[in-house]
Amino acid sequence: MHAIGVEKENLNPFQIAQQQIDAAASLLGLPKHVTEILKHPKRVLSVTFPVKMDDGTIRVFQGYRSQHNDALGPTKGGIRFHPDVTMDEVKALSMWMSFKCGVVGLPYGGGKGGVVCDPRQFSKGELERVSRGFMEAIADIVGPEKDIPAPDVYTTPQIMGWMMDTYSRLKGSYSPGVITGKPLIVGGSKGRNEATARGCVFTIEEAMKDAGRVPQETAVAVQGFGNAGKTAAKLLAEQGYKVVAVSDSTGGIYNPNGLDVERVSQLKETASILQYEDAQQISNAELLELDVDILIPAALENVITAANAERIRARVIAEAANGPTTPDADAVLRKKGVLVIPDILANAGGVTVSYFEWVQNLMNYYWSEEEVNEKLRTAMVEAYRAVRDLAGKYEVDMRTGAYMIALLRIAQGMEARGWI
Ligand code: NAD
Repeated sequence: MHAIGVEKENLNPFQIAQQQIDAAASLLGLPKHVTEILKHPKRVLSVTFPVKMDDGTIRVFQGYRSQHNDALGPTKGGIRFHPDVTMDEVKALSMWMSFKCGVVGLPYGGGKGGVVCDPRQFSKGELERVSRGFMEAIADIVGPEKDIPAPDVYTTPQIMGWMMDTYSRLKGSYSPGVITGKPLIVGGSKGRNEATARGCVFTIEEAMKDAGRVPQETAVAVQGFGNAGKTAAKLLAEQGYKVVAVSDSTGGIYNPNGLDVERVSQLKETASILQYEDAQQISNAELLELDVDILIPAALENVITAANAERIRARVIAEAANGPTTPDADAVLRKKGVLVIPDILANAGGVTVSYFEWVQNLMNYYWSEEEVNEKLRTAMVEAYRAVRDLAGKYEVDMRTGAYMIALLRIAQGMEARGWI
């Protein structure tokens, strides 16, 4: 409920991404036509495709693939299966991918895809047919040198395996480089599953080093207990951080003395995290406002908004999710002195190891997990320090600093190619 006279906060992710671009571009003094190019995806494909369900009925699914900018290389970004997917969300996510690749310096532009569906309602066969159907629908515009998808919310290595197979059959040749996040046996990279979380943890470590904090005295809350959130919680617990709260779409659990993350993970696999014995049940909204040192939003966008930002008590927010904080909330957090490690930096580990996977596919030569993790550490630490230093120099928050680095790289690429 909004007070009379108070503007309702704009939660359209596409418009939020555009606002973020404007803020960084004006600091960089980029010409208007450059900003205009960056504020719109180069191509958005909307598809519908029929799928035969187990009961014999045919359902028609809506999907999208957005390719934002390919000045620095083929576009790259995940595919999301979720009932709330919209074209604007996919467009925003593709823009964030461009900037994510730009922050880490990967030779890619940003892409993203989504299918409006609830995969939790599907049988395995239905899930496979939806996955293959979507890949068939977008096959003309993806490819190892065009646009390379990957997993995102509710999509898995198995789904990537099916999609790679569909694409390979259509093209008549084995093409592992068309998609990343695949099962290891068909060209996946060691370390890819954990990469988003591991990269996020590397950025947290840097922030903690700067603040002179030790893990044992640092309490963490994690919203979302999937690929990104669960793995981040596990890695942090292994290092001695006190993970005091986690949640998934069904709700959250909280114990100020810390949770046994391994046990919670087991329950997530076999039953529900809410069955964890030694914790109080909390809502997702309550989790965000807990008195913790680090908050990791690792579910969906727009969870930290003008409505709750004032009540956020964490000193550091590491955005494993894409777009969890609105610009209005950002302004409040900045005033409160909260350090926000922005999504395009904090969760860039996923696309970084996706890039390593693609490189290994093109070489047909595979690296050890240690090698992957070490290369990831180098990339994330360098990116973190570059963003921190630039943000310090311009006296802006890290999100703006990250955008500035990324925008500059993309603009330089467009200039070198004669686009601007
Ligand atoms: P996932 O499907 O593995 O996990 C999503 C988790 O969020 C699940 O635990 C689910 O229960 C929970 N969830 C869903 N709706 C929720 C709600 N309304 N409230 C609270 N929790 C909810 O997805 P993921 O791959 O871990 O992605 C999570 C976030 O991380 C997304 O924003 C995604 O874009 C981002 N991300 C993922 C990757 C990656 O490599 N997987 C890379 C970069 C960014």
